[in-house]
Amino acid sequence: MLAHADRAIALQPLPQIVLSEYQAGTFDYVSGSGDGPEGRNLPTLRDWIEVFRASIPQFRHRAATDISIPEAERKERATKFAQTYEAILKQLEENGEADVPGFRHVTPSCISLCALREECLRKQGYEDVFATVKAEENEKALALLPGVLRDLDAITDHSQRLEMVLRGVFAGNIFDLGAASSADLFSTNGAAFESTRANILPRPWAVDDMDAVLQVWERKHYSKALLFVDNAGSDVVLGMLPLARELLQRGTAVVLAANSRPAINDITADELRGVVARAAAEDKILGRAVDEGALKVVPSGNDQPVIDLRKVSPEVISEAGDADLVVLEGMGRGIETNLHAQLTVDSLKLGMIKHKEVAQMLNGRLYDCVCKYTEGRP
Ligand code: MG
Repeated sequence: MLAHADRAIALQPLPQIVLSEYQAGTFDYVSGSGDGPEGRNLPTLRDWIEVFRASIPQFRHRAATDISIPEAERKERATKFAQTYEAILKQLEENGEADVPGFRHVTPSCISLCALREECLRKQGYEDVFATVKAEENEKALALLPGVLRDLDAITDHSQRLEMVLRGVFAGNIFDLGAASSADLFSTNGAAFESTRANILPRPWAVDDMDAVLQVWERKHYSKALLFVDNAGSDVVLGMLPLARELLQRGTAVVLAANSRPAINDITADELRGVVARAAAEDKILGRAVDEGALKVVPSGNDQPVIDLRKVSPEVISEAGDADLVVLEGMGRGIETNLHAQLTVDSLKLGMIKHKEVAQMLNGRLYDCVCKYTEGRP
């Protein structure tokens, strides 16, 4: 699964993770289910499998309309993808493990189920079934960016502005076609950034360190931040770029790390370079930062909608050494794989919850926010 990327480039652990404690997975799909604290009913393996099963129609739809595949073959290959992935899920559901010809032996986890889905697509010749919708959403979001930045600039209080920037990160993160609930929402309303930001669920959120973040950023200066970004469109353009710009205005250099290879509607590093160049041409702060090398884009080494921080690219390694802040954004990277990751430097995990099972685990609500601040432990 990750073997392909591992072979192609030497992936190494992010130097800031506390390796002895690190696990690339927040929720145990096998033994972490059943009766939870305070009598809560936690999702079972069957429920988690159902989360991935529910994603199949969206992937199948995108695969069946992927223009990079000859038209006569699209439908059949999309069907084969869906059938193969469904067969693996069924095995995992029934046996707790799967041995499918052509795939390695797997046990169920967030990372393995994400990786298998991408691998099933690639086996049918699909490289990037969300390419078209990503490009469309990037265009729409870039058109909205000047207005979003103007509104932020009108907020003179630093703390209030930072809170609005972070609310923008959560609102943007709703553009997630990997989760059935947000994919349905997107097909009805589009990304709808401003109304989403205005209607974010009331605090306290499922994980709510917003006050701590505002206080810490008031007294602490970071010299360099490494931001692992998530989705294309409003997520990265209207959520994460304004966060990068806020950091730049505070004198922090910013490195944006995006997927090396496509996964769902996550933005890739190649795509992000184009988006940042376009945004920089329209905005003085971003433009100057790009010119001066204070804002960079690097490939993360990743080909998943989640991330194992023990496997990052040489480009991330070479930039990460002097980073004193790490931000992991999105449900996959910030919540499902790294919520409890302890780093040697301060970290922020930011995302919106789009699976009710994740909400159950965190005792939160669907579309709740996760704003987790973890102080670095050198
Ligand atoms: Mg994503």
